[in-house]
Formats: sequence, structure tokens, C-alpha cells
Amino acid sequence: MPAPYCYRCYYGLNYPSCELHCAEMIRKKLIEHRDRICGVILEPLVQGAAGMIVHPRGFLKIVRDATKETDTLLIADEVATGFGRTGRMFAVEHEDVRPDIMALAKGITGGYLPLAVTLTTEDIYSQFLGKYEEFKTFFHGHSYTANPLGCAAGISTLNIFEKDSILSHVQKISLRLSQRLNEIKDHPGVGDIRQKGLMVGIELVRDSKTKEPFDPSFKIGQRVIKKTKEKGVILRPLGDVIVLMPPLTTGEDEIDMLCDATFSSIEEVIKEV
Ligand SMILES: *Cc1c(COP(=O)(O)O)cnc(C)c1O
Repeated sequence: MPAPYCYRCYYGLNYPSCELHCAEMIRKKLIEHRDRICGVILEPLVQGAAGMIVHPRGFLKIVRDATKETDTLLIADEVATGFGRTGRMFAVEHEDVRPDIMALAKGITGGYLPLAVTLTTEDIYSQFLGKYEEFKTFFHGHSYTANPLGCAAGISTLNIFEKDSILSHVQKISLRLSQRLNEIKDHPGVGDIRQKGLMVGIELVRDSKTKEPFDPSFKIGQRVIKKTKEKGVILRPLGDVIVLMPPLTTGEDEIDMLCDATFSSIEEVIKEV
């Protein structure tokens, strides 16, 4: 199903007058094929590598209700959004949604060691319980399952979340970041700025009025990050989208440094091309 990418809506509609047609289409599809569909997998609220696509408010809730209605599973990939990135511990909390299965990694160790976890409901878990001869057991393991060093890094990270009130810090610093982002929203080369907590995508376009993209051969994103690097800020673009994903412990001064370097680089590069 098409992503709820409001800036370039697949259905050519506008939020909120669209009344979340994209989510309704998923609901329709689920009802139509409920006997063949096992579940819906999505990245809740923000699709990271797809271009920092921030979903419109209410989308997730409709999809959750539709999966319940059709007895299909909701599988949330919170590898990128989980552990405070969006201002809540998990992105699904923004819409009071509880998925059936949730995939987590990255932020669980603050990025210090690789660790991932799959959570599920008691209901699903219990489907794998039974006598040995029933072969219900989920015979699956990893070489490094429950790696003690990885788990220790995870526990330390969770302790820091509590001890240093990381979530409230993220909420505070995200506000600072959105204030700063306002400074470039009217720039003719800036098409869309998408933010949820400390996840930001700045979509650059040739013409913000028509939303016409840059010629891919310009490698506009690459050019911008080359310039920010000269200013001491290492970023990564996703095509023409400049990604800002600072550490959750980032301070105000660092937000300013990040924004100063990014905005001036965008302005300089757009002037050049
Ligand atoms: C990084 C990422 C993954 C990959 O996770 P691994 O633990 O490296 O397999 C999956 N989904 C999302 C949304 C990600 O950002």
C-alpha cells in the first residue's frame, strides 16, 4: 500500500480534508483480502530510510483498528523510532496503539553495541507453547542471542533514560529544533520539513511552488552534506532529503551548531545550482 506521504500524496489529496483516505484504503484492502492477509508491517509515525516520511496524525490508529476488525496482526518496526527518538519511549504511544509484534534495536543500547529484540503479546507467545511432540515450539535462535555485553549496554541505557530524564529532555530539545527549522521553511529550495521529536527530514526541491524535484544528477543531498562536513557536522542524506537525527542527549548549543551548519550549507548549495 502507498505510504502516507502527505507532501506528495499518492491519491493527490490534502490533509486533513482527505480524512485519511490512505488509511481507509488499507482498511478496505484488509477487509477485501482478510482471508489471505496475515498482518500489516509498518514503521509507526516516521518511515526512516524511505525519506523521513512523517505520517499524518490518526493514520496509525485507523490501521490498528482495521487490523483488529479483520483479525490480522499489526507489526510495528520501531527499530528507528523506538527508545525516545520521537519524544515518547515508543512511537506507537503517540496514538495509544499497542501492536501485536514490535521490532526494536538501535536505540536500545544508545547505539553502543548491537542488540535487537522482538516483542509480542502473551496471546501470540502462548501459541508456541505446548508439549514437545506437538512441535509448536518456535525453533529459532541466533548465534548471539542474549549476548551479555549487549544486554549490559541495553540495561545501562535504560538506566540513563530514567536517571537523566531523557524523554523530557528530548521533548524540550525537539521544541528548540522545530523553532530553528522554521527559519528555512520559506526558502524556495526547501519543499517540506518533516519532524517528529529528534527525527527530521528536509526535502529539497528545485521549486517549492511546483514541488519539482532537482535533477538527480545534481546529487543535491550529497552536495549539502559535503558542505556541512566542512563546518564540522557529519550528516547523511536520503536522496534529496537531508536527515537530522542528533543523539538524544544533544544540548541546545549543539542543536544550534547543527542547524547553523545545515541551513547555511543548504542556502549555499542551492545558490550554486
Ligand atoms: C536500521 C533499521 C532496521 C535494521 O535493523 P537491524 O537491527 O540492523 O536489522 C530495520 N528497520 C528500521 C526501521 C531501521 O531503521
